[in-house]
Amino acid sequence: MGADKLCIKRRQFLTCGAAAISLLSIIGGRPTEAFGQALPTKPLDPAMPLAQALGYAHDATKVDTTKYPKRQGPEGAKQFCSNCALYTQGGIKLAGQEGEWGKCSLFTDGLVNAKGWCNSWVLKPA
Ligand code: SF4
Repeated sequence: MGADKLCIKRRQFLTCGAAAISLLSIIGGRPTEAFGQALPTKPLDPAMPLAQALGYAHDATKVDTTKYPKRQGPEGAKQFCSNCALYTQGGIKLAGQEGEWGKCSLFTDGLVNAKGWCNSWVLKPA
């Protein structure tokens, strides 16, 4: 591929990227909302298959640490959704529910509790 063709492709990429950013700013929403993925407005159902498979609990202190040894010991006891790298939009209050809720990148059907936990927990970078 010649340098001139590479330049054109690079220019097209930058133009498309800029157009996408402009469109999002016109819409005025976050990217996930712009593409029809509004934030859930209810708690995640811990009985749903993926939540169950990952041992999700709204209250991390109730996790069966025999079944999920990752949450054992003093280090495990520090693991909560609120300090997980996949917890993206915390600080949400839900009507009729106690505590703080937020979005988890793994679940689209409900919000997770800030004090919750699942076996996919990974430390949020500082
Ligand atoms: S991946 Fe992280 S934020 Fe999502 S449910 Fe598991 S511990 Fe909570």
